[in-house]
Amino acid sequence: MKAVIRQIAIERIGILIQNAISNSRSNPALAQRQANLAKKISTKYRIRMPYHIKMNFCKKCKKFIVPGIGARIRMGRSSVKSIRITCSFCNYTYRKIISKAQ
Ligand SMILES: [Zn+2]
Repeated sequence: MKAVIRQIAIERIGILIQNAISNSRSNPALAQRQANLAKKISTKYRIRMPYHIKMNFCKKCKKFIVPGIGARIRMGRSSVKSIRITCSFCNYTYRKIISKAQ
């Protein structure tokens, strides 16, 4: 695959996710569609979603969830810095480690 096509696909994913985030409050259905489209592009071109984008998809129902809108976020209390994300669609809670010892 041409690097240029790949680059365009990556950009499109970024733009779609940006739009989805900004639309998630006013137009959740549109946000969901844009997020799904971004996902389709990533599958089609075999582009790995960046970590911060992947975090916006619920692990269980695969819906696009925006922190503060489609999801509740709580800070973990352990020594490892982590957040707990609760999906408002299916109520599934998962933990994300935000900083790892390197
Ligand atoms: Zn969910």
